[in-house]
Amino acid sequence: MSMFEDIPVDVGVIYEGERIRRKQMYVELGGPNIKEKFELTKVKKPEEVADGKVVVIGPDLKDMEEGKSYNLGILIEAAGPELEPELEGVVERRIHEYCNFIEGFMHLNQRYDIWLRLSKKSFEKGLNSFQYIGKVLHRLFKSELPIIEKMQVTFMTDPEKVKDLYNEALQIYEARDARARGLKDEEADKFYGCVLCQSFAPTHVCVITPQRYSNCGAISWFDGRAAARIDPKGPIFTIEKGELVDPDKGEYSGVNDVVKKKSLGEITKVWLYTGFGYPHTSCGCFEGTAFYIPEVDGLGIVHRGYRDVTVNGLAFSTLADSTAGGRQVDGFHGISIEYMRSPKFLQADGGWNRVVWMPKEVKERVKDFIPTELADKVATEEEAKTVDELRTFLKERNHPVVEQWEEEVVAVEEAVPAEAREESPLVPVATAATIPITAGGFKIILKDAKIYAKKVIIRSVKSEKPRRKGEKVAKK
Ligand code: SF4
Repeated sequence: MSMFEDIPVDVGVIYEGERIRRKQMYVELGGPNIKEKFELTKVKKPEEVADGKVVVIGPDLKDMEEGKSYNLGILIEAAGPELEPELEGVVERRIHEYCNFIEGFMHLNQRYDIWLRLSKKSFEKGLNSFQYIGKVLHRLFKSELPIIEKMQVTFMTDPEKVKDLYNEALQIYEARDARARGLKDEEADKFYGCVLCQSFAPTHVCVITPQRYSNCGAISWFDGRAAARIDPKGPIFTIEKGELVDPDKGEYSGVNDVVKKKSLGEITKVWLYTGFGYPHTSCGCFEGTAFYIPEVDGLGIVHRGYRDVTVNGLAFSTLADSTAGGRQVDGFHGISIEYMRSPKFLQADGGWNRVVWMPKEVKERVKDFIPTELADKVATEEEAKTVDELRTFLKERNHPVVEQWEEEVVAVEEAVPAEAREESPLVPVATAATIPITAGGFKIILKDAKIYAKKVIIRSVKSEKPRRKGEKVAKK
């Protein structure tokens, strides 16, 4: 029995996080095979909105061919006396949540990057029209966000129509993002948190500051503030900053407290401006990922839309698997494109001085924010397809990481006495209060460990352990 009698499938929070694999899907809307797709919310005057109206432009679900991918644009037009344009981004992000309440209907990502799937099972149960989806969205939005008094939904699948609005949507997203630029984290009295993605990554908490945009790139600090105001008990909430523990890494005591609570104790510390140590967690809808390339001691960036393998031979999907899940993974870091425009972008790791590779498309999008002196030192797929090519390129262009390579060799030599470079009797080479080892699905914790080795091999290669800017090579 459905939550709504006139909807052929069930609707409820239990379906959030449901994955629909390719062999289970009836059709796919948007996603990696489709260039133009979007979701957009516009706040309108009451007389411009027909409450409850659902419009379908182009083939409806029942007219689609099984197994195929289609263009999709979702336009929500909403009105209400207190509904202001600054809330558009907040309302829009809820499309993700409410679509996922529908049994057999999966929604991933955001804005220009949406990826939806309808399952065969739900299609067979009768979920064969966007009219049903629109009805569910209308009811959920109005019951969860009473600030919305009137709302209509348009689904576009006609490729030409989607294309027209897609370009307009890109301009609207850019205008929203530009608004938050210029405000500094130090000046903001509060930060905001979001746990909308916990259905997919239960320990993930986005910390949204003026200078660290949300991972999905869909919620700015202003959006966070607006959302927390209209729905303070909702998934987006206020974070009291507390004490600034480390301005370089971006550690705030208030952030640590809230993240610990919201991740049920799993994450105890967050450094906002680094991909190492205690980086901000990554859910699954980050727009891009920053990944450490040990051979050159630099960071690569790849965005979701990049279809080729990156310079280290791995595709976005593989790197994303290593990054996602609400974990803190040293050297794999989910980011939004807007964060790359921030002066705090990976600040503790060296910022742009540490970025060595990214797809041309991303470089083009953020080119005005790359320091001029570095612009031609960051390689794209056109300059380097492999790590060897990257190394040559960086050396030729004298990228700042190259200087670090030389320093590292010297540091290793200085740190290690000559006799220790040869075979030596058993001496402890590492001691620690706790050393966690993860193997075969188990976590083994060695308490008060001392590790002895018959031989200590020091390799003067690029660091195998990611380092933060200015951090010296560990002495062995
Ligand atoms: S990525 Fe972060 S801000 Fe965006 S919806 Fe998920 S939890 Fe919220």
